[in-house]
Amino acid sequence: MPYVYAFILLLLVIIAVVAIRTILFTRAATQKPLPFIKQLPDPTLEPLVAARHLSAAIQVETISHENPAEDDPAQFAALHRVLEESYPLVHAHLDREVLEGGSLLYTWRGRDASLEPVLFMAHQDVVPVDTHTLDKWTYPPFSGAIEDGYVWGRGSMDIKSQLIGVMEAIEHLLAAGFTPERTVYLASAHDEEVLGTGAPRVVALLKKRGVRLQAVIDEGTAILDGVLPGFKGYTAAIAVTEKGYLTVKLTTESGGGHSSTPSSETSIGILSRAIDHLQSNPFPYSLKVTAPMFKAFSPAASTLMKVAFANLWLLGGMVRRKLAAAPETAASMHTTTAPTIFRSGIKENVLPSLAEAVINFRILPGETIAQVLERVRLVINDERVKVAPIPTSAWEPSPVSPSDCPAYHHITTVVRELYPGTTCAPNVMLGATDSRHFHAISDRVYRFTPIISQSDDLKRIHGINERLSLENLNNMVLFFYRLVQRWSSTDM
Ligand SMILES: [Zn+2]
Repeated sequence: MPYVYAFILLLLVIIAVVAIRTILFTRAATQKPLPFIKQLPDPTLEPLVAARHLSAAIQVETISHENPAEDDPAQFAALHRVLEESYPLVHAHLDREVLEGGSLLYTWRGRDASLEPVLFMAHQDVVPVDTHTLDKWTYPPFSGAIEDGYVWGRGSMDIKSQLIGVMEAIEHLLAAGFTPERTVYLASAHDEEVLGTGAPRVVALLKKRGVRLQAVIDEGTAILDGVLPGFKGYTAAIAVTEKGYLTVKLTTESGGGHSSTPSSETSIGILSRAIDHLQSNPFPYSLKVTAPMFKAFSPAASTLMKVAFANLWLLGGMVRRKLAAAPETAASMHTTTAPTIFRSGIKENVLPSLAEAVINFRILPGETIAQVLERVRLVINDERVKVAPIPTSAWEPSPVSPSDCPAYHHITTVVRELYPGTTCAPNVMLGATDSRHFHAISDRVYRFTPIISQSDDLKRIHGINERLSLENLNNMVLFFYRLVQRWSSTDM
């Protein structure tokens, strides 16, 4: 009988701890705005002006290619003309430098040259459109059609909209007679989608000039509406870090020969088994990187989610299993393994002597390229499989930018001003962005795109019927109108 009492007592203690932790957890996450008294009243936006500018930008086919020789410099020059025509004040007051290939760097000098500048960025290039899908587009991908309350076309979400949003905001600020306290840069690469050299060139140039940036904001996660299961309302994730990147080539060589007398093991078989080993032994899951996000999101979470995230000591295993079930949340918890190329064989009756495969890893912050390579070799455990990283396709995860500083709080405050009730949280960017290069000259690098996205919208990025609502576009202009003022002030 005493055992039963002890058990009941233990159960009560656990329930009490879980309840207390849940209450404290939600309290700690309360989000306070960062006051800013110097803010100018918002400009009155004529709804179609920014839309027409974005439409004109979309109509220019600034597609970037793996081989830069295939890029069309005339398209980038045409986009530069669209910007010049759309933003006369920007081009009269800011210095513009065109870098090799077509990347842009604008400088808006601040009153006080001793203050560290801030930098806003968004790339000019877009991904191509799969010609097989052309008939599925409601409006042609480079039409820039303004229909049904949206601007349609490639680049409307990724990410000419952000370039237009920042430019439009600065144009309005100049019209209002605003001068920044600290220098404001606007950088726009021409080859982000092919992991190109535009952004590194901008960084090298600023570094050469001895520039150290107070903060940087690039494209990133959006404000999600009903995308995260178990959360209600708008959730805005501001990416404070991004995953590393590693492409590895696996090669197997064997004797080859006639297919009528195959040996028990063939190149294709050996390599296939190696890949199977990698896939069936995924990198371990960790909640370390995502836990701060779920903590900050807790005010929007269902009771069950709150209890779970406040009590990872007890329920961590269950939470990991639940999050691992969906590819997006799984990717935020571990280094991912993606076989992307497999090549072997020349003829149906010839045993190939060579088989090669390419595996793309996205490295979780906290892990390193060296650790990933070591584990890959360990898991494959077969000396006949050569493991060779591709040096140009390898970089470490980004450092984590702070989420307890004015630069971060200015972003979340403006989000919540424009979208009241939005819950904001720091998170990890799963894809690669140009912003990763800027850690060399700044400790505060953020990736965020201030548009409301539902699950259906996210599929349009790099996909079919990419489009942005006029409301989203105008709010993007207001977001940067406010953020440029805050970030360029002395309140940083
Ligand atoms: Zn992009």
